[in-house]
Formats: sequence, C-alpha cells, structure tokens
Amino acid sequence: MADVRSIALGDNTVHLVRRGGARLLVDTGPDYAGAWEALGEGLDCDLPDVVVATHGHHDHAGLGRRWQEAGVPVWVGKADGPLTARPLLQSPAEEAAMLAWAEGTGAPAETMAHVRARIAARRESARRAAESAEYPEDGGRWPTGLRYPPFEADRLVDGDGEAAGVEVVAAPGHTPGNLVLAVREEGWLFSGDQLLPNVDPLPAIQFVAEGEGLRRVPSLAHFAASLERLADGGFTRCFPGHGEPFDGAGEAIAGALGRIERRCERVRGSLHEAGPASVYDLCARLYPRATERRFWQTASSVQGQLDLLASRGEAREAGGVWEAC
Ligand SMILES: [Zn+2]
Repeated sequence: MADVRSIALGDNTVHLVRRGGARLLVDTGPDYAGAWEALGEGLDCDLPDVVVATHGHHDHAGLGRRWQEAGVPVWVGKADGPLTARPLLQSPAEEAAMLAWAEGTGAPAETMAHVRARIAARRESARRAAESAEYPEDGGRWPTGLRYPPFEADRLVDGDGEAAGVEVVAAPGHTPGNLVLAVREEGWLFSGDQLLPNVDPLPAIQFVAEGEGLRRVPSLAHFAASLERLADGGFTRCFPGHGEPFDGAGEAIAGALGRIERRCERVRGSLHEAGPASVYDLCARLYPRATERRFWQTASSVQGQLDLLASRGEAREAGGVWEAC
C-alpha cells in the first residue's frame, strides 16, 4: 500500500509518496519567498528520506540546495546534472550554440536582434536567480519571482532505477535527463512536466556536452518516445508537476501524443504543398502572427516537429532548408 500527499506551491505541485515505511518527495518545490515555510506546513513534519527532482528547471529543482542543507539527499537525472549545478547560459559556448541555432533558422536581421536581447536577458535573470539573496519581485505564476541556488545532486540517476520503494523512470525530452516516477501496482504516474492537465510543454532548444563541443538534442523526438513508452505503462492516475492530480492518465497520454502528431502533420503538409523551407519560413507560413511576436517559442516548436519528422525519415535538412521525403 502506498499513499500520497500533494502540496500546491504557487503554480507547482509536489507530491510526498509513502510506501513501505519510506518517504519520497517528487520535486524539490520552487524557491519563492515563503515556499520553504509553506512546504514545511504541507508536509506537517513528515520529512522525506529522499527528494527526486523530475528535472533541472528552476520551478522543479529550485529548493534542492535547501533540502540538502536540511540533511535530505536530492537526486536528479544524470543528463540534468549540469542544469542544477550552474545557472543557464553562463558559458560563452552555450550562448554561441543558441545563437548559431537561431541564425540557422533563417531568421532576418531584426528578429536576430530580438533573439540576442532575449538571450542576454535570460542569462542575466539566471545569474541573478542563482546568486542573489533577494527574490525577484515579478512572480507571475508564483507569489514572488523564483531563486535557483545551484547545487550538485547527491545522486545522478542514469537510466531507470528505484528510490525509497518508488520506481524512477528515465523519460528524456522535456530536458535531457528528465525523470518520471511510478507506483505500478496503484497505477500511479508522477509526471513532472511530461504530462500536464491543460498544456503541452514547448519543446526547448537544448544542448548536451559532446566531446569538446555542444550537440543540440531533438527534444520533441525524445519527448514523444518517452510518452510512447509510458503509454504502455497501464497508468490510471497522474500526479503532475503543475495542477491537481487527475484520473485517466492513459487517455491523457494518448491525447498528448495525438496533439503532437497533428502539429507534425501540419509541418509535413506545408513542406509537401508549399515546398522546401527554412525553419523561419515554415513558422511564417504556419503561424504568421506568433512568428512576429514570439519568434523563439514558435521556432522552438517548429524545430521540434521537424526533428520528430526527421527521426522518422519523413523530412530532411540540407544547408538550413528542410524538405519532405
Ligand atoms: Zn520544466
């Protein structure tokens, strides 16, 4: 027998799973002003034996160092180790890789100026979240902005495993080292951002170290493969990283896969009907208004769909131009 206590922290939800006398917390919780105290209240002195962050994003791993200071070990997927250990975009190589990707989309000069400004702003806010003792004022989905003090995970989970009687399942895609957790005999899936009640996470432009350099990972292709693997898991109830737990996990996985498929089909259809195109051209064809206002999100999304089509041999790229095959 297992039981779960779900605790809402601003826009996030963390889950304390008790099974066979052991206690595991899914996600550290985000670090906004008052989050640690709210978490303590929610746990009602029932401290976990281990905390597993589903991934290294600030809202899922932000309180990692705080847990370590309280004597509780924090585990993270191996490929997300770099995300918790240092703030985003602080290395010139990472910034250069992001810029090279954006340039490779075929975006015009004025869009590239926005991209440069956006990368600089993200680098600065990541640095502040890591170093500043103050919370950023603008909270948006949380009572205040989020801090993210870097930490080295106590364990880097490589592949599938187990923690405090709970199954840990590698589900790369949303981040390179993304994890979900499972209690199969109850049909429970602790999905982090892999499966959410009302939104499909955007495939991000992400890089992993390879040799001396950085390699871009096909985020959406990995994300979809992870979902397909979970689709066979017989899950009935989902405990997501945002929002309330919900029933019908299997149907929700099928729905998410269907939406990915339909978006890919639009991209493939456009390559077929209107001919070869750069990422930027495809964005402008499919989402003209969004491309002007939110190039980064639109291009990340289209890039993800192209990666997925390429992984199936349905599209290919040469010199920045994509064509159907
Ligand atoms: Zn995330």
